[in-house]
Formats: sequence, structure tokens, C-alpha cells
Amino acid sequence: HETVYAIASGKGGVGKTTTTVNLGTALAEAGERVAIVDTDLGMANLAGFVSLTPDSTTLHDVLAGDASIDDATYRLADNIVAVPSGTNLDEYAETSPEGLRDAVEALRSQFDYVFLDVGAGISHETVLPLGLADAVILVSTPEPAAVHDTKKTIELTDRSGGSVAGLVLTRTHPDGDISHDDIADRLEVPLLGTIPEDPAARDSVYAGTPLVVFEPEGPAAIAYRRLATTVTGVE
Ligand code: ADP
Ligand code: MG
Repeated sequence: HETVYAIASGKGGVGKTTTTVNLGTALAEAGERVAIVDTDLGMANLAGFVSLTPDSTTLHDVLAGDASIDDATYRLADNIVAVPSGTNLDEYAETSPEGLRDAVEALRSQFDYVFLDVGAGISHETVLPLGLADAVILVSTPEPAAVHDTKKTIELTDRSGGSVAGLVLTRTHPDGDISHDDIADRLEVPLLGTIPEDPAARDSVYAGTPLVVFEPEGPAAIAYRRLATTVTGVE
């Protein structure tokens, strides 16, 4: 099965980190060994979603050639680890995204699933993970601007030799959105799932706890568990 997934979007703030954390946690709860990786090197924030305070070693050090991936890997709970990035701009300047390939391959050999939380936009560090992953999960809200930017991510995935698994629409509303199926049809990608707007998503970030743990019976948590099954087949 596919092991390494890039969670990507054109526009920022659409739910990539939320999706990375909750897909990963849902699969870990189902017994799979999971690594979630913050490859949003410039705007890293995955650690805060899971109350992780890394000691000095992060993915930045790995990509600067100063540490091994194991040193930047932190256990979060049973079956799940995170690789955070640093938030220091000077360290960011030292990193070379090229090392990401080796880091990802090392994780691939140790885990059942690896989720790369990719930065928005079209910079080199954003494009690289699209080609390294076995499959790209596109994240967008139903807003036209976000959907429009998703086309760029699809194009960049194609150019990088990557492959798109499909689209996740986040922050959806029962009425009032453009038809979700129409959005996916227009982008010519499968619709993997929809995650409803849920205030628990924001509250879970403040709590530093994944949504699927923070409010497991809430609508977004239920939708993320369903998405995990759709993407991987794991129940
Ligand atoms: P990205 O990583 O793409 O920048 P985030 O995962 O950080 O996006 O989410 C951006 C904001 O949207 C956060 O404040 C998050 O709590 C909120 N959010 C994400 N998903 C939902 C949802 N289903 N319902 C409500 N708010 C959400
Ligand atoms: Mg993010």
C-alpha cells in the first residue's frame, strides 16, 4: 500500500495541519505505526497542535546536516511520532530541502504511514514533498479562491512526477457551499472526504490535543476517522 502521503494545498490556512494531525492520530488509534512530519519549513506549527515542545533538535537540524532523523523524532502517543520543524528564521536559512528525500526514506522503512504536512504556495520546499510522496492529498475549503489555488498544486504534483490521491474539502457547511462533487469534478480528482466546520477544531488547537482525541464524537472527528478509512482502507 501507499506509505508516504503529502498533505498539500495552494492556499494557506485551509486545514492541512489539522488534517495531518488527525489522519495520523486516527490511524495510530487503529493500530498503525504513524509518523507526522512538519515539512512547512518556513511556517512550522505542527508541534503546537500536539503539545510537543521539541528540545533543540528539529527537522531543520536534519536538513542542515547536523542531526539524524531519529534525533528529530518525538513520540506523541502509542504508535505515533512527530518530526517537528524549527521556528527560528536563521536556522531556516541553513536548511537545504534536498535532504528531505533521505529523511522521508528513513521514516518509510520504520512506519506504516508517513504524513508530510506541506507548506502552502509554490516554493521549492513545497514542491519537493509532492514528488517524494507516494500520493498527494489535496486540502481545500469550498471557497472559490482556495479551489482555484488547488489547480496549481495539482499541476505542480504532475510536474514533480507525483500522483494525486484526491481532494479533502474542509470547513464545509451542510447548505450554502458550491456542490462538493462539482468542485472535485472540476478539478478532475476524486473527492476523498469532507470535514464539516466544527468549533472543536480550533478549541483542540488551543488544547494542544488532536481533534479526534479532544472531541472524538464531534462531527469533524467522525469525518476524519472516516477519511482515514477511505484513504488507507484501515478500519
Ligand atoms: P493550514 O495548515 O492549511 O494552514 P490549519 O490546519 O492550521 O491550516 O487550519 C487553519 C485554521 O482553521 C485553524 O485555526 C484551524 O483550527 C481551523 N480549522 C481547520 N479545520 C477546521 C474545521 N473543520 N472547522 C473549523 N475550523 C477549522
Ligand atoms: Mg499548517
